[in-house]
Amino acid sequence: MTTGETAPVNGLASVEAEIVRACRDARRERSSVTLVAVSKTFDTDAITPVIAAGQQVFGENRVQEAQRKWPELIAAHPGLALHLIGPLQSNKAKEAVALFDAIHSVDRPSLCEALAREIDRQNRRPSLFVQINTGEEPQKAGVTPSDADDFIARCRDTHGLTISGLMCIPPMDDAPAPHFALTAKIARRNGLKQLSMGMSADFAIAIALGATHVRVGSAIFGTR
Ligand SMILES: *Cc1c(COP(=O)(O)O)cnc(C)c1O
Repeated sequence: MTTGETAPVNGLASVEAEIVRACRDARRERSSVTLVAVSKTFDTDAITPVIAAGQQVFGENRVQEAQRKWPELIAAHPGLALHLIGPLQSNKAKEAVALFDAIHSVDRPSLCEALAREIDRQNRRPSLFVQINTGEEPQKAGVTPSDADDFIARCRDTHGLTISGLMCIPPMDDAPAPHFALTAKIARRNGLKQLSMGMSADFAIAIALGATHVRVGSAIFGTR
């Protein structure tokens, strides 16, 4: 049966099996890759069975949607971690720092300033990833590869932020591997250990190229 509440649990199991295989092929430990189950647009009914199946890390791309769905789930299930994977407006930094354990979309000095202020005020330290716009797409968030080193230094030196790693979303029509490799290269030369890259269609490739966080939605929850 692949309808109703069993569908996301089956999806989770096949994604998990593919992560295990990709780690084995890349001679990496399974524990070196965190699966971020992207539950955007899905409601509590779809999410609860995935939590019951053992998944603890979830991703959302909108602050308001996450505020609506997650406080109750987090209260009921200690140990869950929630990651913000979508763009963040500076005026939502307060809510984002309060709710999320990681933010994958740091990409502007104004946002860094707002995050630094809230991290101080709330004494909460979400893991921070700088988003790299590897395809240099004008409509897409992220810093360009040529601005990345300066921006990462500025995060640390001007804003006092600890950056854990980098995130990228390859252009829809490109082969993803060169984008993953470029992101890994920028991370390496900046001494950053974490790489948030790979989605439903390409997470195995991302793992081969060093991803530490794969953000997988539709392969678990179904099409949106
Ligand atoms: C929606 C989304 C994902 C998950 O995409 P799928 O193709 O459904 O796995 C990953 N990353 C970001 C930034 C997203 O917005």
